[in-house]
Amino acid sequence: MLESIVVVGGGTSGWMTASYLSAAFGERISVTVVESARVGTIGVGEATFSTVRHFFEYLGLSEETWMPACNATYKLGIRFENWRAPGHHFYHPFERQRVVDGFTLPDWWLADGGATERFDKECFLVGTLCDTMRSPRHMDGALFEGDLTDRPAGRSTLAEQGTQFPYAYHFDAALLADFLRDYAVARGVLHVVDDVVHVARDERGWISHVATRGSGDLAGDLFVDCTGFRGLLINDALDEPFESYQDTLPNDSAVALRVPVDMEREGLRPCTTSTAQAAGWIWTIPLFGRVGTGYVYARDYCTPEEAERTLRRFVGPAADDLEANHIRMRIGRSRRSWVNNCVAVGLSSGFVEPLESTGIFFIQHAIEQLVKHFPDADWDPALRSAYNTLVNRCMDGVREFLVLHYYGAARADNEYWRDTKTRKIPDSLAERVEQWRTKLPHPESVYPHYHGFEAYSYVCMVLGLGGIPLKPSPALRMLDPSAAQREFRLLATQAEDLRRTLPSQYAYFAQFR
Ligand code: FAD
Repeated sequence: MLESIVVVGGGTSGWMTASYLSAAFGERISVTVVESARVGTIGVGEATFSTVRHFFEYLGLSEETWMPACNATYKLGIRFENWRAPGHHFYHPFERQRVVDGFTLPDWWLADGGATERFDKECFLVGTLCDTMRSPRHMDGALFEGDLTDRPAGRSTLAEQGTQFPYAYHFDAALLADFLRDYAVARGVLHVVDDVVHVARDERGWISHVATRGSGDLAGDLFVDCTGFRGLLINDALDEPFESYQDTLPNDSAVALRVPVDMEREGLRPCTTSTAQAAGWIWTIPLFGRVGTGYVYARDYCTPEEAERTLRRFVGPAADDLEANHIRMRIGRSRRSWVNNCVAVGLSSGFVEPLESTGIFFIQHAIEQLVKHFPDADWDPALRSAYNTLVNRCMDGVREFLVLHYYGAARADNEYWRDTKTRKIPDSLAERVEQWRTKLPHPESVYPHYHGFEAYSYVCMVLGLGGIPLKPSPALRMLDPSAAQREFRLLATQAEDLRRTLPSQYAYFAQFR
């Protein structure tokens, strides 16, 4: 059995890893986190994926415990603004599509000639909740959907089962790291604040210890590299190559601001917003008391100064005295994230731009898989190999999904956006796009390995982005549409009821303050 783990790095990935491992293994293994006081954390990464609730549940943390401590809010999906055309918006919700007589509501919607501009509001509830800034919970804490979306409509087919949890979270990344540090330290994780100045390897090339500036050598069986884009252990010490995705995802920089906001006056939108810009897009992440915002852009098309000016214009006078955080992004992944006795988790493992908030999801996926593939003293290489396959597939799949966002966007009004249509896209995606032109994405026609996104996410993007011509299924011209029409009407009634009965997200969180 392994006896000790050393985690290098105390950002979101370092503390998520340490707290998860201590929750999983308790005192059966010792965990040490060493983090530098000199090298800061990335300071962004505040929107998540709906699966993140499993992380908090695993740690035994209820929302009441951790959310107020991290100024956290709910996220029901992502609002995409101006990706299709100026003034246009649509949602990618955390909500599966309903199915009627074996066809999804978006299939029926398309067959009806795309009756309105807003497939998202006609086919999903979440669009209405986001537009009207509702909380997904009633004041007494009851979740809005209950079994609303799980009941079969019309004649159901085999495929529709299981649930999609309806929300994720926004949180303050620094507060979350502090919260998880306290959680982990209370459970016996050792915390060393010092710089790692050397990574020592034994004759096999495995890491034997890391040397610190003032706290001596930290030896361990397993080392987790959470040092961010630098990849101090995995890339610098072990020489594992980094495989760039830059050829298909050219955004390589970001500039970010933390903007205090009067939430009582402005309201608290329960979604992340991504607003397309001349050379990328701006994120808006509403936390309780402030907004996190940043411009993700490509240096080939925009200078950092221009990007900062654009972001400040976007925010307005509230940005005047705020300091901007400029970030260079390393887009791609380490060829293998687990090499010998070193596992890279977080930005050192890989990163795609934050367009679908997948950074923290990658961390969660990695640490869950690490526990599932945890080695014994014989270090069976099959465990490492299986782990690396899963992690690589997950990131490669997300890369494909993100490339679709640019390729599929109708917007083509300048060189940056025109290039998104002519730049090479992964061959597998090109083949899939051809299939989607005649049949909306379905489980058999999307990226086949686990990467966090289901077919309905692809459906939302191709319908919302508007740049790929789509044909309705011919069969729908020969099927009786009455059950589908009833479902559209029912959904509209449910959306209106929820709009009336759910509190605003601001009112919901204000009650805890
Ligand atoms: P970092 O935060 O960089 O932490 C590195 C740690 O390593 C620090 O504690 C540092 O002190 C330590 N360290 C480094 N060198 C040494 C040394 N020599 N000795 C000791 N310690 C050392 N993800 C999302 O899920 N949602 C988002 O909305 C999102 N937005 C993002 C926006 C941008 C612009 C970027 C770049 C990323 C975003 N991410 C997002 C990703 C997310 O920020 C990261 O996945 C997450 O913060 C984890 O970072 P990390 O802990 O791996 O690295």
